[in-house]
Amino acid sequence: MGNLKFQFKNTRYNRQEQMPEWGILRQRKLASAKVACIGSGGVKSTLLMALAAAGIGYIKIIEFDNVELSNLNRQTLFNNKQIGLPKGKCAIKLLKSINPDIKTIWLNEKVTEQNIDSLLEDCELIVEGGESPNNRNLVNEYCLKTNKPMVHASAQFSYGYVFSMLPEKKSACFACLFPTDYSRKKHTGAVPVWVVPVQIAGSLGANEVIKYFLGYKDKMIVNKQLAFSSLLLSQCFEYLKIPRKKDCPVCSKYYENKYGKNLKT
Ligand SMILES: [Zn+2]
Repeated sequence: MGNLKFQFKNTRYNRQEQMPEWGILRQRKLASAKVACIGSGGVKSTLLMALAAAGIGYIKIIEFDNVELSNLNRQTLFNNKQIGLPKGKCAIKLLKSINPDIKTIWLNEKVTEQNIDSLLEDCELIVEGGESPNNRNLVNEYCLKTNKPMVHASAQFSYGYVFSMLPEKKSACFACLFPTDYSRKKHTGAVPVWVVPVQIAGSLGANEVIKYFLGYKDKMIVNKQLAFSSLLLSQCFEYLKIPRKKDCPVCSKYYENKYGKNLKT
């Protein structure tokens, strides 16, 4: 069942450039893409490796944490020799070894209300992965304010989900998805999780980033979430509709300021 048009060359991107929905021109768009990833643990561990392999030209990692033994059951970006070392440093080292043609930057910072504008200014798309509700909400608001797309991926236990926000399309924001999370300030602490849901959610999150830069915004997981649950037992995947909440205290503020009172969702 070979494709007669397939022209194999032993180059870095040949196998994906030969995909009809991809091509050489779209690959160039990935090369000029600038993505910020908040954190490099959890699902971002897989997500970052996928972005580097696929050829996202500029990846900025904002990470202040160190590698811990308990990370290694699922965060395949790190290894046993790196316990105690800064995650960001280890992350860019591995990403560079996967793909030396891209630029990777690590900032040893914690995102705060004061520094978020300067940290994310040069990036076009933000991969959200805050460790606390407060952090997630901060990034959500930043993306609404600056009209930048946000990709959110998460995994716990044996379930996970992916959700994207496109402010230019006035889509549901993180606070529409998790209204209770928005009002919650405290971190819930460590939860059970293992490598497979982390890798699935991370890969699906990377796929969202790739769709955006290849020009498939209308195919992104917007106003819905792609969730999978109880993978050990049922392998169930489903799309759950997340319509924008017209009374959402967060996105309403930005969409109304920006686009006027008569919102169409
Ligand atoms: Zn909202």
